[in-house]
Amino acid sequence: GLRTGEQYLEAIKVRNKAEIYVLGKEVKDVTTHPFLKPSVMAFKATFDAPWEEDTKELARAWSPFINEEVNRFNHIHRSPEDLAAKVKLLRKISHKTGACFQRCVGFDALNTLYIITELMAQKGKTEPKEKFVEYLKTVQKKDLALAGAMTDAKGVRTQKPSQQKNKDAYVRVTEVTKDGIYVSGAKANITGVAASEEIVVLPTRAMGPEDQDYAVAFSIPTDTEGIKIVVGRQLNDARRMEEGDIDALPYFYNHEGLVIFDNVFVPMERVFLLKDWQYTSQLVEIFSAYHRQGYGGCKAGLGDVIIGATYNLAKQIGVEKASHIQEKITEEIFLTETMYSAGIAASLNAVQPCPNCWWVNPMHANVTKHLVARFPAQISQLAIDIAGGIIGTAPSEWDLKNPKLREYIAKYLQGVEGYTAEDRLRMVRLLENVSMGVAFMIESVHGAGSPAAQRIMFSRLYDLNYSEEVAKKLAGMKSNVRFTEKAEPWRETETEKLAKSK
Ligand code: SF4
Ligand code: FE
Repeated sequence: GLRTGEQYLEAIKVRNKAEIYVLGKEVKDVTTHPFLKPSVMAFKATFDAPWEEDTKELARAWSPFINEEVNRFNHIHRSPEDLAAKVKLLRKISHKTGACFQRCVGFDALNTLYIITELMAQKGKTEPKEKFVEYLKTVQKKDLALAGAMTDAKGVRTQKPSQQKNKDAYVRVTEVTKDGIYVSGAKANITGVAASEEIVVLPTRAMGPEDQDYAVAFSIPTDTEGIKIVVGRQLNDARRMEEGDIDALPYFYNHEGLVIFDNVFVPMERVFLLKDWQYTSQLVEIFSAYHRQGYGGCKAGLGDVIIGATYNLAKQIGVEKASHIQEKITEEIFLTETMYSAGIAASLNAVQPCPNCWWVNPMHANVTKHLVARFPAQISQLAIDIAGGIIGTAPSEWDLKNPKLREYIAKYLQGVEGYTAEDRLRMVRLLENVSMGVAFMIESVHGAGSPAAQRIMFSRLYDLNYSEEVAKKLAGMKSNVRFTEKAEPWRETETEKLAKSK
């Protein structure tokens, strides 16, 4: 079942086999390293959630696989309400972390593999499903911290995996033995990977028979020989090495890493897709829609943090009642709630590609992510507008703490009485980091697929001909409209087509 945050920390403390690098140096204990600790603490929030009053119900779910209560992050959705609970939970956890808490990619990877292996079973290939359910049970029983790894290094973007000069541009199977497989290649931008216990690896694009060596999905403990993790840099990251308590803002970061697989052995019971290229396009479609839905929760939660910070900063200088400030905050609210509404719609309007499996609504999920690719930048722009230039020019906490400067800083940074210069600095730093950080500004654009990927989905899913025939009929033109029982003018997804085909 359910672990506590402390139990999670204990479990990831020692890394002996994998190599984890930060700023060129190897790290053994990720829970105490100043660069990674803030991100580990954000991940930990997902383990604290089942024990905290406001998130207790949302964060717990009943698993029919092990007949026990599990952490929602390792749950297989059983209803549209389950999907909505995910979005609601993500919004709430963002309020505790102010950053991406990194556990949802593994969550979405589990749900994706559940549907894909079920579809394979329906077509007569039952082994992947059996192996996956066994793995799922272990994950649920031990309440494991999973990272999901999808995006490959990709090399030349116009070439398929098998056409690349670098044969490892996409993760591939180099050898198959009766006990398992060997894999090589690299996954890029992998959220939270150094804070995870296991990595679930999925193919990142649709593949043909010529790419079958690349059509592989498996899980592997993060601490496995041959795995090298290179943690990426972020804006303001060196501040974490400072030992202050204002500028460093402990606990407010997530991390991404380049995960290199140098001829890594994966036991056969952990291999869920092996040369099954026929299922790759559906797998990508299912996973990306799941993750796009989630953004309506976590990014709305970060929107709340920014709205609160903006409002407080306006108060600190006495402008919160000015009509243009109120207008701007109202706009931030509208943008934030729009992202959330779309995420909820994607959940409650869920699609069932197989019995007992619940996928999100693919159109709404893609719309959610596309809103998220645009709105955070607008929310941040409004926040910066309201906060004033100080958000880019404020003195450091070390100035405030210098006895020679302290009084001056206190005098010249204060606005309305009742708030101190330290209050102003703290709020400015929070807003600076959240509004311009990786989670809100960059991940919002590129996470779960760049904006162009969602536009491709809208046009693929939307039945333009149907709408045209509807309009022609209403206009009194000759029309061969056939009204369908579907409420929306959408086509079937690749996943639904596969589910229906014999
Ligand atoms: Fe979860 Fe959001 Fe982070 Fe993705 S970006 S892992 S949905 S918190
Ligand atoms: Fe993400």
